Amino acid sequence: MASLPVVAIDGPVGVGKSSVARRIAERLGFLFLDTGAMYRAVTLKFLELPEHERTDERLAALGESLDIELANDGTVLLGGRDVTLDIRDERVSRAVAIAADSRAVREALVRKQRAIGSARPCVMEGRDITTVVFPDARWKFYLDASARVRAQRRVDQLQAMGKEASFASIHRDLVERDARDRAREWGALSIAADATVIDTTEMTEQQTIALICAIVAPA
Ligand code: C5P
Repeated sequence: MASLPVVAIDGPVGVGKSSVARRIAERLGFLFLDTGAMYRAVTLKFLELPEHERTDERLAALGESLDIELANDGTVLLGGRDVTLDIRDERVSRAVAIAADSRAVREALVRKQRAIGSARPCVMEGRDITTVVFPDARWKFYLDASARVRAQRRVDQLQAMGKEASFASIHRDLVERDARDRAREWGALSIAADATVIDTTEMTEQQTIALICAIVAPA
């Protein structure tokens, strides 16, 4: 079977996958899919339930029935409601493992991701895209950078927005989330044997985008 025209990108927290993937999709005219937004959306819905309704069954049902629209510009609609900012809220970030650790949720979301990626060319980023969702993707990349550099980039971003940022707490949080993503029983973050590993520690975002585009669509 011919491999699908999917650019699959995995990597740890804060390595810049979303931003790189979005720009590559723009350049290539491909769909962009941020799969983390799907896990965040399920988490948001779950947190909105009254506490006594937050059961494994309801969680699984939320994954199955997720009515989500993801636009290329990053806008996320949930049942028609704009939740672009809500899903990035600290409360959702802290709780997202509820959805990401659930086997039922992962199976439902992986099915949706496969349906989307099989319908048209796309750039899909997450933790398990090269290994579980599209192990047969035509292009597979693993973006990496040291935890210190990723934390410093986040501090710089927050400061540029005029927000306070503590390197120590951001670094600690990032290392904890990476460890959890790597230890997950299903869909753990790992490097596919046939993925191209790009260490972006010393690279700018533009250099990373140019490198991936040169591999996907050589001039
Ligand atoms: O990429 P982002 O940080 O927005 O993803 C939110 C969370 O969803 C991650 O911390 C990760 O645990 C989880 N995730 C996942 N599998 C994916 C994408 C994200 O488990 N394919």
